[in-house]
Amino acid sequence: MSRTTQDWQAADAAHFLHPFTDFDALAKKGSRIIERAENIYLWDSEGHKILDAMSGLWCVNVGYGRQELIDAATAQLKQLPFYNAFFQTATPPAIELAELLSEVTPPQFRHVFFSGSGSEGNDTVVRMVRRYWDVLGQPERKVIISRNNAYHGSTMAGASLGGMSGMHAQGGLPIPDITHIEQPYWYELGRPQGLSRDDFGRLAASWLEKKILEVGPERVAAFIGEPVQGAGGVIIPPATYWPAIQAICDKYGILLVSDEVICGFGRTGRWWGCETMGTRPDLMTFAKGVTSGYIPLGGVMVGERVARVLIEQGGEFNHGYTYSGHPVACAVALANIRLIQRERLVDRVRDDLGPYLAQHFEALKAHPLVGDAETCGLMGAVVLARDKASGTPFASDLEVGMVCRGHCFGNGLIMRAVGDRMIIAPPLVMTRDQIDEMMVLIKRCLDLTW
Ligand code: PLP
Repeated sequence: MSRTTQDWQAADAAHFLHPFTDFDALAKKGSRIIERAENIYLWDSEGHKILDAMSGLWCVNVGYGRQELIDAATAQLKQLPFYNAFFQTATPPAIELAELLSEVTPPQFRHVFFSGSGSEGNDTVVRMVRRYWDVLGQPERKVIISRNNAYHGSTMAGASLGGMSGMHAQGGLPIPDITHIEQPYWYELGRPQGLSRDDFGRLAASWLEKKILEVGPERVAAFIGEPVQGAGGVIIPPATYWPAIQAICDKYGILLVSDEVICGFGRTGRWWGCETMGTRPDLMTFAKGVTSGYIPLGGVMVGERVARVLIEQGGEFNHGYTYSGHPVACAVALANIRLIQRERLVDRVRDDLGPYLAQHFEALKAHPLVGDAETCGLMGAVVLARDKASGTPFASDLEVGMVCRGHCFGNGLIMRAVGDRMIIAPPLVMTRDQIDEMMVLIKRCLDLTW
């Protein structure tokens, strides 16, 4: 017997503690129950159809209901539902996925270390970076530099690498030897000073060098960043930023880590965000889009600079997870990546959908509520401004983003609010007509908020 929405909400409130949620407030309000999905649409328990402009949580890149992925999981569950990669064993799907990942990643990557999620991937990064410098006889190189408002996961190391003050405030984070510089957010930090985007990009990169000198170059192990900060509000850095960061990492010999958990697998119009931004990372974290979210999987691509040291001089690396290389997850990832290749989704984002979305966002700038609008591939952000001309933001207590998000919910659209930034990252399989449909909904919600 199927339950009513109220039944689901009561059971949910009674037993389920949700991530990043005020438990009591949600229990009083009641969750929205999502029951099924197809292509880019969801249906809730009240029968409402919703356009999912966030691809779930930035992950359902190939859209919902793809039979190939379901078949791959089913076949692997029957063949071998689990075996581990510990104790000198391996399974065919994990080996095949490692091989395919080394084909679709930049040439410096020939090895992968699997995890179950992006957070675990970034924990692996911390251990691997420190192990690398230890093996090279430079154990004092421990400090990892990240950025304010970055998101690298929710484990102790992931949340420490991240630069979310609300997360640091709970649990005594960051852990030692992780430090942060300011983010490359032009609208908030460069525009008010009258800086061009390019000048601001160079300035923001120079903060890395300043920090390296402050810490002492001999103590710095790595710099980590998302090519485009996703959870921080789709902060798209100026074109000058990442090449300058690369040059600084090269100058001081520190490792560059690209967190591709959101940007990987075509989101920015190339396979990897680092390719869009013009960097050559030594390590690359991935998750989400590797399986389009159908099943949990993450990992770290390990560039030859690090891999050679760990393989040839490192001995045993005392690190790993029960689900490192889970065969069912790897089988789904293989089907997912082959589907992305067959449907040429990455080229489609670069040549067609990305530019088409960019045109729409450019037009949005005329809206009285919109201070800025920008895209990178199929991710975009709209800045809500109280006064466009001066770029004056809304007072944070007005929570205008949350008001706008409420209108989205009421009008069949999932769009996320991060402060005064309204953001999207829709599935890469959407059509131009569906982009038009999404834009009608976005404009309607902006009008209702204004
Ligand atoms: N890194 C980035 C850039 C992310 O956006 C996320 C999640 O949103 C993570 C890491 C953490 O991934 P997970 O939630 O799979 O642990």
